[in-house]
Amino acid sequence: MIYGLDIGGTKIELAIYDTQHNKQNAWRVQTPKNDYQEFLAVLKDIVAEADHKSGTQGSVGIGLPCVFDDHGRAIAASIPCINNQPLAEDIAHALGRHVTFQNDVRAFVFSEAYGGAADGHENVLGVVLGTGVGGGLCFGGEIYQSRQNVACEFGHVPLSAILQQRYNFPLRRCGCGLSSCLNQYISGPGLEWMCTHFNSNHRGVKELIAGVRANEANATKVFNAYIDCLGAFFAQLTLMYDPDIIVLGGGISNIREIFQRLPTAIAPYLFSGVDAPTIVAPKFGDSSGVRGVAILGQQALFEIHQND
Ligand SMILES: [Zn+2]
Repeated sequence: MIYGLDIGGTKIELAIYDTQHNKQNAWRVQTPKNDYQEFLAVLKDIVAEADHKSGTQGSVGIGLPCVFDDHGRAIAASIPCINNQPLAEDIAHALGRHVTFQNDVRAFVFSEAYGGAADGHENVLGVVLGTGVGGGLCFGGEIYQSRQNVACEFGHVPLSAILQQRYNFPLRRCGCGLSSCLNQYISGPGLEWMCTHFNSNHRGVKELIAGVRANEANATKVFNAYIDCLGAFFAQLTLMYDPDIIVLGGGISNIREIFQRLPTAIAPYLFSGVDAPTIVAPKFGDSSGVRGVAILGQQALFEIHQND
């Protein structure tokens, strides 16, 4: 059996897959955020439970919303207790087996390129629009690993001046210390902020989309501006990476109108003769990241055995 663990700021999900990547079982526990020893103990318990349920000692792949430095220390994590800890070493020790780590968004892209919505495509770009904006690249089935692990941190690239002026957007400060980052405009919270900016009375994305579907003028105005911003963003992605296909995930990707309207929204931002790649929804939805790390864990173990 192979296990994938998705460690988020509030929940840890463990999913058990068979060696053919069919999901057998999955459950969640709370993430201990402030006590590192408790964090390790919870991981040890959940993996022991998986071993018990599956009757084997499964391989382990872990996805985290952070990156690792050269010494295996977690950095920029949304889980305070793991920051700057020798996480890779400590978890492998606690679980008594080899453990593979990957950034959760990169794992999502890998999963969709490997048997998912982008299967069979050579150059795959994944974009996640949720509480933040991020992504990853997968070339020929391999995750692109960049020098500082910041490739595809689109959320901290500025919104274009054309859009800034067209919609009279203020230059919003971002938590990263920069200004006018895309995170502040096109993430889920960014879309909520747009409702306020355009004086719409909609509270939250769900309410806004209900308004769009009911043809309410002020909801449509907000959503049109949002789609325009997304169109410009995806045109930039096309000019930067020219991928064969883009998989769009994250909470915002549950809005079906986005897939319907994006091709028309991208076109005005591309010059003549250039077209946008197909943009598809993830095949494995919210469980794609956990599936991705489970497969990466299995592959790593296979390579270790081959080199024995
Ligand atoms: Zn930023």
